Amino acid sequence: MESLITVLLKPGEGDRIVAGHPWIYHGEILRLTAPVVDGALVQVKDHRQRLLGVGFYNSRSKINVRILAPERVEVTEAFFEERIRTALAVRQRHMPGATSFRVVNAESDFLSGLIVDKYEDVLVVQISALGMDQRKAMIVAALQKIFTPRVILERSDVSSRKFEGLAESNGVISGELAGPVSVNLNGLKFETDLVGGHKTGMYLDQQANYQAVSEFAKGGQVLDCFSFLGGFGLHAARSGAAHVHFLDQSAEAIAASRRNAATNRLAEKCSFDAVNVFDWLKNNTAVKPHERVIPRFDLIVLDPPSFTRNRASVPDALRGYKEIHLRALKLLKPGGTLASFCCSHHVSADLFLDSLLSAAYDTRHILRRVALYGQSPDHPVIPMIPETEYLKGFAFEKVR
Ligand code: SAH
Repeated sequence: MESLITVLLKPGEGDRIVAGHPWIYHGEILRLTAPVVDGALVQVKDHRQRLLGVGFYNSRSKINVRILAPERVEVTEAFFEERIRTALAVRQRHMPGATSFRVVNAESDFLSGLIVDKYEDVLVVQISALGMDQRKAMIVAALQKIFTPRVILERSDVSSRKFEGLAESNGVISGELAGPVSVNLNGLKFETDLVGGHKTGMYLDQQANYQAVSEFAKGGQVLDCFSFLGGFGLHAARSGAAHVHFLDQSAEAIAASRRNAATNRLAEKCSFDAVNVFDWLKNNTAVKPHERVIPRFDLIVLDPPSFTRNRASVPDALRGYKEIHLRALKLLKPGGTLASFCCSHHVSADLFLDSLLSAAYDTRHILRRVALYGQSPDHPVIPMIPETEYLKGFAFEKVR
């Protein structure tokens, strides 16, 4: 094994690493035993010289070391192959029927800085750390060996790359891609633009919740807010909803969800509006002083984008959640269900729930909790790494 330069931590630092968290911040480091090239593999020791692990070093990032393993390992194609196969086995165990899913979810799979999504026979790779970026060829070779995919795409257009000293990088790594890919989720087909779509193409983290929430749709009038490609609404329509109305401010997303409804033979019970959800909810709950809003939905789904990227804007985000909760409660029939999601790591489940309860207080409604949701099992939560948990959701029935 090559000899590695040592990163020595200050006294008192290292417990988090021992517990399994992979990030070492600049301020925790006492010194390096020799200069290190950015991206190189280093070993990390505590101030008593005990080995804590090995990982990639990057002086330009706030996270100076991203730990890969608690023991000495050689980072080769075989190393990536083994890690990716282990991650794949987790998906096969917990989502046995799925053909499209996240294969590697960075820290959740002990590969900080690497995401790999599988959309049928197409793989999409997203790299957000320098050490991974320098080993892209090994990673791609391992993926070829495991999946023999038709296409491998790179979607490394995440803003966090600049904190690692990396430019954005997009394009076809292997194979050829012409047009959108038909992605199968729970037996429904979604036309997905993997080159220009959100994230790496779709919100795979909701796959299990699409199915779970659709159980509240039977026979009812459904409103899918922030519908994107129509995931929640189309599952609801298939599960026997009488009608589904889709709202998204992106005209392209609405056009794609319209095509998806037709492809899945559900178009008859679907209608669409390319609008700002806040405006639509406001317009549809506006009444004269002595009038009441007539509730008309049996199921309302709220799955907005993250309203906050940092801790400072959490109060604004909470006002946003309260606003949509308030208006959705007015439009929900008694006995109807509100399913609401929050994908911001900075907004805790408690704060998110508060935004609903305070809306229920203001509108004098009583709620009954009927389900709690998290991210699908292909985005595993490792409690030792709190950042791996971000998606929370719940369903409440309006008692009165
Ligand atoms: N529910 C979707 C994911 C939603 S992502 C799914 O499961 O796939 C957020 C979506 O909200 C995006 O499609 C974006 O276009 C839309 N959006 C963001 N802000 C909006 C707003 N104010 N009004 C309407 N749509 C909005």
